Amino acid sequence: MSFDSRRLLLALLLTVLATHALAAVPAHDSSPASSPDPALIGVRALMAGDSATARTYFSAALSRDAYRAIAVAGLAAVHLANGEVEPAVSSLLAATRLAPDQAWPDACLGAAYLQRGDWREATDALRKALTRRPAWAAARSRLAFALLRQGLPAPAADNAHTAANFGDAAFAPFVEAAALLQMGDNAGAVKLACATMPCSPTDGSAPTLFRTPLIAALEAPAQRPVVSTPPPTPTTSSSQPGLRITFPRDGATVEGAVEIRLTSEVTFAYSALYVDDQFLAVSNLAHPQESWDTTHWSDGAHRLRADAYDDSGREISRQDITVVVRNRDRTGDAAQTARDAGLGRALAEWCMPSLAPWDVYLLRSRAARAAGDGALALEAAEAGFAYWPWQAPLRAELQRTNADLGIGLDRPAEIHVLPPGRMVAVTFDDGPHPRLTPWLLDVLARRGITATFFLVGKQAAEYPDLVRAIVARGHEIGSHSQTHNDLSRMSRLDVERELVESRLRLAQASGRQVMLFRPPGGNYSDDVRDVATNLGFRTVFWTSDIAAYAGIPPDRIVRGMLHDLKNGGILLLHNGEDETPQVVEDLLDRLQATGYRLGPVSKLLGIDSPYLTLTGAGVSRP
Ligand SMILES: [Zn+2]
Repeated sequence: MSFDSRRLLLALLLTVLATHALAAVPAHDSSPASSPDPALIGVRALMAGDSATARTYFSAALSRDAYRAIAVAGLAAVHLANGEVEPAVSSLLAATRLAPDQAWPDACLGAAYLQRGDWREATDALRKALTRRPAWAAARSRLAFALLRQGLPAPAADNAHTAANFGDAAFAPFVEAAALLQMGDNAGAVKLACATMPCSPTDGSAPTLFRTPLIAALEAPAQRPVVSTPPPTPTTSSSQPGLRITFPRDGATVEGAVEIRLTSEVTFAYSALYVDDQFLAVSNLAHPQESWDTTHWSDGAHRLRADAYDDSGREISRQDITVVVRNRDRTGDAAQTARDAGLGRALAEWCMPSLAPWDVYLLRSRAARAAGDGALALEAAEAGFAYWPWQAPLRAELQRTNADLGIGLDRPAEIHVLPPGRMVAVTFDDGPHPRLTPWLLDVLARRGITATFFLVGKQAAEYPDLVRAIVARGHEIGSHSQTHNDLSRMSRLDVERELVESRLRLAQASGRQVMLFRPPGGNYSDDVRDVATNLGFRTVFWTSDIAAYAGIPPDRIVRGMLHDLKNGGILLLHNGEDETPQVVEDLLDRLQATGYRLGPVSKLLGIDSPYLTLTGAGVSRP
């Protein structure tokens, strides 16, 4: 390397280092004017999945203003992210008191209750949020979910429907579908469960805190319908005669030092005052008057309670009221409140559960089965299992669907040779191939020959047009696995996935549910045989394989293969890069000239169709 090029490299390196140093400076530092808001940075960090940084910034926000609800809620969200639900709930209860006129603290609280599995508490909190912000789609769809979990499908469906109308397309339609399914509206459930695009397995990047199993709502034993409680009203004044707080009034806003005045229609020995259950004062006067310095308390709602006791210390009367403390300048800063409301909504939505994406497939398959749509049920079950084979409920759902449709075979079906007769089945493995397949289709068309194409699912998904072209030219297709790997060296679950996914991809490309199967490389095992049987596949072997003639001159290959193909032979050629293109025309011409009947496997075997025909009732087997 010359001196100049080394200098050039060094300069480049320095430039790269400088660029990195700049990139490391957080974007907020470059914002002009005011100093960055630590609560904003905290929310951003949380959504980026960095809860440690979020905790630092929310704490910093609290050290500037100990009564800022968004910072309190932010720390609660950090707890939630770490799976610490209890401290999160108590912090969020505090946040609801700090910002009593906002919808988002209650929505955050509702989300925390959902995470804890407290459906009724969640219902109450979300309802409170919705009274302040009725069009909040994300909160309403979670309310619907909480209702569904309580065994209340009708109000769940109502709320989910409203949430969907308000724009929640990711959660609400599926909750509504589940609710309809529970209510026996199977057609309605299918329509909804299929109306929205499925969550793709890559949706894991969505900034959601936790996933809730929607399907569990369907599996829960039918609970006795719980009469859901209306949202609690903040006023709890008693109509019984007794001790009363005459000032301040219930719901009043107070500041500074407040003279709390009590009166009583009954005789009592002494009275006590509490703020949020903390003792404030005791008195033996008939009309007590106590001073409460609200500046020592956080801004927001507080509960003021007066108890009266008799001589023996027995409580004879109690009253509760709610007052809102407003001392800080911040509470007058409308812009700050609006900014915090925006942050709070983002925070609340981040805390809310999202659907486990596989649940959508489970829901679809179940709804379709209930509605008697076998093809749709199978597609949903296969797609779910192909994406998440390790999710046991998806495998169970696929097995149920296969059983319902009667897809599995009682015993293995293996085709090694055709029945006696002057015929040869022509098969091509390893397609579709972008260059070779169209050429092969022309070669076959010129000779009026149809054949069986054992296709690789992965390639079928890449070239669905070629799959359709093969079928359109009158050929039949079968599965040659999903990835063309050695199935005999795979776990049983992986073999299942290979066969299921290839059937799915071929169906998605061609609309046909394949039933013929050829193991890649001929690698076969007890597991492969079992899986193929359970999935209703007939395994097709061969009597002459071009792969056995690798590296041999074409004329000798043709001679060898003609010799292999005695009566009832099954010819194996490829769509891949081997000698097939050099010999296929000569071979087919000679077979035809010798009077062989050439065709696809199922036709020569006398099978009506190489595909599963799924009707509403199940599969009609040829
Ligand atoms: Zn192959």
